[in-house]
Amino acid sequence: MAAEVVVVGSCMTDLVSLTTRLPRAGETILGQKFFIGFGGKGANQCVQSARLGAKTSLICKVGKDSFGNDYVENLKKNGISTAFVGQTADAATGTASIIVDSEGQNVIVIVPGANLLLNSEDLKKASDVICKAKVVVCQLEITPAVSLEVLKMARANGVKTLFNPAPALADLDPQFYTHSDIFCCNETEAEILTGIPVGNLEDAGKVGRMLLERGCKLVIVTLGAEGCMMISVEEPIPKHVPAGKVRAMDTTGAGDSFVGALAFYLAYYPRLPMEEMVRNSNYVASVSVQAAGTQSSYPYRKDLPQNLF
Ligand code: ATP
Repeated sequence: MAAEVVVVGSCMTDLVSLTTRLPRAGETILGQKFFIGFGGKGANQCVQSARLGAKTSLICKVGKDSFGNDYVENLKKNGISTAFVGQTADAATGTASIIVDSEGQNVIVIVPGANLLLNSEDLKKASDVICKAKVVVCQLEITPAVSLEVLKMARANGVKTLFNPAPALADLDPQFYTHSDIFCCNETEAEILTGIPVGNLEDAGKVGRMLLERGCKLVIVTLGAEGCMMISVEEPIPKHVPAGKVRAMDTTGAGDSFVGALAFYLAYYPRLPMEEMVRNSNYVASVSVQAAGTQSSYPYRKDLPQNLF
């Protein structure tokens, strides 16, 4: 039953239509292609961790509907424990309806649905798994108070907490900072949280320092092709950890690949220097940007260089 990496978060079914242009209000247009993908930050991060070989459990809620059933199957196929995947008849599985035009412009409607019904009762049922994990990961695609409760439960039991404040809230409860061992955000999230636009490494260092001062032990700001910036209580000088140069094809979900990989390293290689964990996680995420889709682009351990393990 025990899992080393426990993720508490969202599952979303992506409904993607490819069109030549975006429709205007009230207009019906013909699209060229349609596909369904598995997304949601919680599930994405858990899938990446599992594909690297982590024993994982996802605590989440989907609908008692066909998307929910398919999602449970998808998690099982990825070797993730679904013991605490709830299915509710009170809301539909979370969806992201996405239209992408030929220029790559998109419009997206997210309906969180069942994700917002994950509650304290569900956490109580899963408390044994949460409290015995090596690392607990959460984000903000479920009710924020539930994520905070998870961080508190983990902390109280000596479990390492990895928090990804996505999507960012300008008025994030300050307790999220004090209960995050590792606070990992991208440039946009860092700007929403601090009010400082992140255009270069210096800005990233500045926001990192600000977030550290709010009480986290270690802050990582991901910087796309530039890799990441990290800063910690122990090493309060911002450190740039570059990503390798690759030909990016689709960067969707790269941030979740990074977080999932980092959770794996924290759980399985706790003695590795943090900079090395971050460098390895950059590598994993940089592989994901070279293939299409979100979870479909996440690498398996067998496809990665053995020196990463
Ligand atoms: P998304 O919202 O698309 O999931 P994000 O904005 O949360 O992504 P990014 O900062 O863009 O996250 O990327 C996360 C990590 O993925 C980076 O730190 C880096 O390791 C890797 N990465 C992203 N884009 C590239 C790229 N073009 N080349 C190499 N690595 C990349």
